[in-house]
Amino acid sequence: MKTVRTVADLRAKLSGNVHFVPTMGSLHEGHASLIRMAAAGGGTTVMSLFVNPTQFNDQKDLDAYPRDEDADSRIAESAGCDIFFAPGAQDVYPDGFATSIHLSGMAEKWEGAHRPGHFDGVATVVAKLFNFIGPCTAYFGEKDWQQCRVVERMVIDLNLPVDLRFGPTVREPDGLAMSSRNELLSPEARYAAPALYKNITEAGTSFREGMPVTLAERRAHHGLLADGFDKVDYVAIVNALTLEPIEEGEDARLIAAATIGGVRLIDNLPV
Ligand code: AMP
Repeated sequence: MKTVRTVADLRAKLSGNVHFVPTMGSLHEGHASLIRMAAAGGGTTVMSLFVNPTQFNDQKDLDAYPRDEDADSRIAESAGCDIFFAPGAQDVYPDGFATSIHLSGMAEKWEGAHRPGHFDGVATVVAKLFNFIGPCTAYFGEKDWQQCRVVERMVIDLNLPVDLRFGPTVREPDGLAMSSRNELLSPEARYAAPALYKNITEAGTSFREGMPVTLAERRAHHGLLADGFDKVDYVAIVNALTLEPIEEGEDARLIAAATIGGVRLIDNLPV
């Protein structure tokens, strides 16, 4: 595996079919599973490591974001990465940077509503990374369900030459979705955190068995508070692709965001 830090160096090393996994580092098995999917595609597997400041709507959250490039590099290499692209902030955001991509509609709901500017930051950096790399197959995790849908919308709307693939959420044995943010949980909060998966799983089952949407959502919301979460931003059963209110017979997804011990966690399930 080669580590590269500039766009010029990256482009000089790309050849054949390119498979690309964008990340913000602090790699875990969820990221590794995407790198393995990418490497299985043959050709050149590129992973980017860039903690993108513009997608953090809270400076404290950005400062606290875990960083360990050496550990990331080892995980990436053992998962089959060929090129580890870790640009500096100046390479991504040159002085005077003034351009931003804004998606309206679905991107303004849920995560977009609770983290103003978040998806503008995601869309802008992902579009830039795609431009650095050129035509490729790019891999995203279903853990960030709305992000998958936002990137998909952008690729269609801007005719980006990128084929998207989505990998399933990788979980800890107790059900907690793997996330770089899990490292920030206190031992007590880590112990209680699997209640997110438990409550949305129960709500999903109740919904499938005929419970009305709002009741299933409300039950998970109250369950989370009873199980130690401090704040629930949303628990919603929505159309899986548009993230609009679900209609009879449509593919549904349960999406949720809640905070425990000061750490905000998200999760989702097909229902
Ligand atoms: P991040 O470094 O958090 O920006 O994530 C980089 C990529 O890894 C994104 O496409 C995420 O959706 C994906 N990812 C993060 N956590 C998981 C997980 N537990 N399972 C599968 N993919 C994940």
